[in-house]
Amino acid sequence: MSLFGTNGIRGILNETLDPELAYKLGMAAGTYFEESEIAIANDSRTSSDLLKQMVAAGIMNAGKNVIDLGLFPTPGLQVYCKTHAIPGVMITASHNPPEFNGLKLVRPDGLHPNKEQESEVERIIMGDLYYKTTWDTVGRIRSEDASEIYIARIHKFIKVAKIRMSRLNVLADLANSVATKTTPALLRSIGVKYTSINGNPDGFFPGRNPEPTEENLQKTINFAKSGGFDLTVAHDGDADRAVFLDENGNFIDGDKVVAIIADHILQSKKGDLVTPVSSSFLIDWVAKNHGVKVHRTKVGAPIVADELEKINGLFGGEENGGVIYPEYLNARDGAFALAMMLDIIASEEQSISKIVGKMPDYKIKRIRIPMNRDFDSIKKELLNKYQDFDKDETDGIKLIKGDKFILARKSGTEPIIRIYISAIDEDWISSRENEIRKII
Ligand code: MG
Repeated sequence: MSLFGTNGIRGILNETLDPELAYKLGMAAGTYFEESEIAIANDSRTSSDLLKQMVAAGIMNAGKNVIDLGLFPTPGLQVYCKTHAIPGVMITASHNPPEFNGLKLVRPDGLHPNKEQESEVERIIMGDLYYKTTWDTVGRIRSEDASEIYIARIHKFIKVAKIRMSRLNVLADLANSVATKTTPALLRSIGVKYTSINGNPDGFFPGRNPEPTEENLQKTINFAKSGGFDLTVAHDGDADRAVFLDENGNFIDGDKVVAIIADHILQSKKGDLVTPVSSSFLIDWVAKNHGVKVHRTKVGAPIVADELEKINGLFGGEENGGVIYPEYLNARDGAFALAMMLDIIASEEQSISKIVGKMPDYKIKRIRIPMNRDFDSIKKELLNKYQDFDKDETDGIKLIKGDKFILARKSGTEPIIRIYISAIDEDWISSRENEIRKII
């Protein structure tokens, strides 16, 4: 049995996630990591207090001290762990619906454990191999506000004075969760005026679903269209992601955000880029302009981060708007993405829609199909239908024609098949969509 899925431990309190497991994970983390302190943080979910107390109790019973950062973004905890060289535990279910919660470990280098390290923690839990403390060595707990440490780290990668002079105005959709703690503070610290919505932490997520898709952001989009904002940012539940709207309230595809930030970083530094097979050929266009390479991986932020580490890559990103800059932190960070976007607007002295408009308009159509048939038979039919396309089997099946492609893959988290169709030409996309819907 495996406790850890692609996103750590996820479930619904007392249905698929027992509080006792949180206690055990705390004990296992205290046993597994050598460091004498472990930092913890949580999102705004209704069960986060309960689960966090259980994790903290487990850590203390393994003889380690707990530093509680409170309501705080996952990447904020990761930055804290990295700068203090101590491990951490994050209590969050990221973008999942309100009833879910989850637990994620952080290593002393700020990254999530790899599969082998997770198996080792699992072995401690399954085998009841915990270190148990005595009355005179039991751990203690203290609270700390790590906002300043986190924001100071982001400042190192942007031109603060330039942003300050640009007098930008931002609409910030804080998703009723951790971003309420840090995004307004970041914006204030760089002299950006802001209006926030969904700005109070609330585990029922009354404003919107915590996943920042265009569909879920309709209220925010309407607000942004009322005008006056240079940029709109919307976070997910643990703020490791940010999506953006331009000054007219139009949704900027995450694929384009990755390309814009990659282009910006490549203007002062050279290095290879990493992106999953689901991203459009826009990233290749950027790479070609700067004479660097693109490495394609399976879909998933940890996989992109692993590849960046392996090849010593410069920058990575996913078409859902996740951006990873290893020099800052080899993990996704929504506040960092926001800071980069503001840095770009300030440096270019142009509106974000103009900056986006300078790039070729690659589009990605994303389709979710309930998995009511065997993936292999769908794959076979696609291969048969598109025989003259190039094939790539990195993740599912990708059929490529020049700079256009169709990708079909099984979702790692839900019983669905995800289809991506990408091209500049919208008619090509809709023709392929019609054909594929007939096949499936
Ligand atoms: Mg997230």
